[in-house]
Amino acid sequence: MDASRIFADLGILELAGAGDVEVRSPISGEVIGRVASQAASDVDAALAHSHAAFLKWRDVPAPRRGELVRLLGERLREHKRALGSLVSLETGKILQEGLGEVQEMIDICDFAVGLSRQLYGLTIASERPGHRMAESWHPMGVCAIISAFNFPVAVWSWNAALALVCGDSVVWKPSEKTPLTALAVQRLMVDALATFGDAPEGLVSLVIGGRDVGAKLVADPRTAIVSATGSTEMGRAVGVAVAQRFGRAILELGGNNGGIVTPSADRELALRAILFSAVGTAGQRCTSLRRLFVHESVYDDTVSRLKQLYAKVPIGNPLDAGTLMGPLIDAQASERMQAALQRAQAEGGKVTGGQRISVDGQPNGYYVEPALVEMPGQSEIVLKETFAPILYIMKYRDFDEAIAANNGASHGLSSCVFTTDLREAERFVSASGSDCGIANVNIGPSGAEIGGAFGGEKETGGGRESGSDAWKGYMRRATNTVNYSTALPLAQGIDFKLD
Ligand code: NAD
Repeated sequence: MDASRIFADLGILELAGAGDVEVRSPISGEVIGRVASQAASDVDAALAHSHAAFLKWRDVPAPRRGELVRLLGERLREHKRALGSLVSLETGKILQEGLGEVQEMIDICDFAVGLSRQLYGLTIASERPGHRMAESWHPMGVCAIISAFNFPVAVWSWNAALALVCGDSVVWKPSEKTPLTALAVQRLMVDALATFGDAPEGLVSLVIGGRDVGAKLVADPRTAIVSATGSTEMGRAVGVAVAQRFGRAILELGGNNGGIVTPSADRELALRAILFSAVGTAGQRCTSLRRLFVHESVYDDTVSRLKQLYAKVPIGNPLDAGTLMGPLIDAQASERMQAALQRAQAEGGKVTGGQRISVDGQPNGYYVEPALVEMPGQSEIVLKETFAPILYIMKYRDFDEAIAANNGASHGLSSCVFTTDLREAERFVSASGSDCGIANVNIGPSGAEIGGAFGGEKETGGGRESGSDAWKGYMRRATNTVNYSTALPLAQGIDFKLD
């Protein structure tokens, strides 16, 4: 696929041509574009404009704000193929998943447009006569979005679509590994803003750069909300910096997601779901399945069927029809995968697959076989998130033991159980079941829909984005008590009168 044709279609040909940052496609390792990184003064200017834009945008009626998001959704529909192809080119995910990522952006735009007429507060019964109590939801300020390489555009849209209808302004710092998709989306946003007509200047901006640029956004008190997606290591730094100035952080960090296969599971369905969750996106989803607990009575059969399926996975150029697994993002990801597999072996694991392979003779494309690792238990490496297609498989005897093992990781993003036993299913999603932000029954842990709130507990950071009432994270709540009587009764019946 010709990168410059995609750039031309997305209107970023001139933007993707010059600058100090080389962008390489993981498909071949070749440079596909160059972009300019921003200096500290540019970040400062972006924040100043963004804050000024917020002061105007917060007074625009929310349904009118929704119109801007509707226009963005239209542009995304128009350019879905080109943007989805660019996502594949820049991240190495297969075209189906690249297109799916853009569809997710369209879906959240639709959701946010509806939401722009539903930013409801509660009316609360007051204990005092002649008083009315209510909650109002107000815009917060500048929302800085820091995103990871593996969902280079969808994560921005989950945040930006909500933030914009909630009356916030947006500054985006994409991953330094995927700036081209960000430029393309910003370009579509600029078109939407032009059609919208009277949005304040600087309402939606983009700053390109690495962690220094991110850290500057995070530390600045003009940034009211920091929504940061990436590794737990990044979240530790960002979380502390935001907390120090009492800002608001939405942290969407790593995952080490588990799944349980019970004796009553529909095995064919489970195998398909496991394959998609563990191998899809070459194991580079935050929700990828990494730890599988299989009941001892079905263990041998499940493992041997998985080995057969793994051997058949078509690995290759992610833009070719039929490919189900593309390359890892870069050399470092490949080295980390090999190091994890060696460590697993040292900890008693039996590895099947996991070798680096050559595709189309590309020396700088990091293609690997997905790995299945039979482990005696949850050793140190099993409890670590390795961002690669490694699935650790362990036996269990008792369902409580399997739930405890699922919850034994320090992350708490996603989880699933395969069962046709109602008691097991309900137990898994109950208060004493999975401790994750996402707990599924008879589907894998990855591939969430936008309608639900997305995020996880523990070292996943506790943030929620996307659907349900995640919008509340982008607004401030005011409790209003209005006295329309002529008396002044105090709450709790307190008597406070001068004689
Ligand atoms: P990363 O942590 O290396 O980088 C993510 C982003 O954070 C980048 O834009 C980077 O420049 C920025 N960054 C890093 N350190 C920073 C700092 N100190 N201050 C400010 N910004 C900083 O992650 P990655 O390799 O791009 O992505 C993979 C990781 O992201 C995995 O751990 C994965 O599980 C996680 N992830 C989580 C979710 C989720 O929703 N929970 C979604 C996608 C990816």
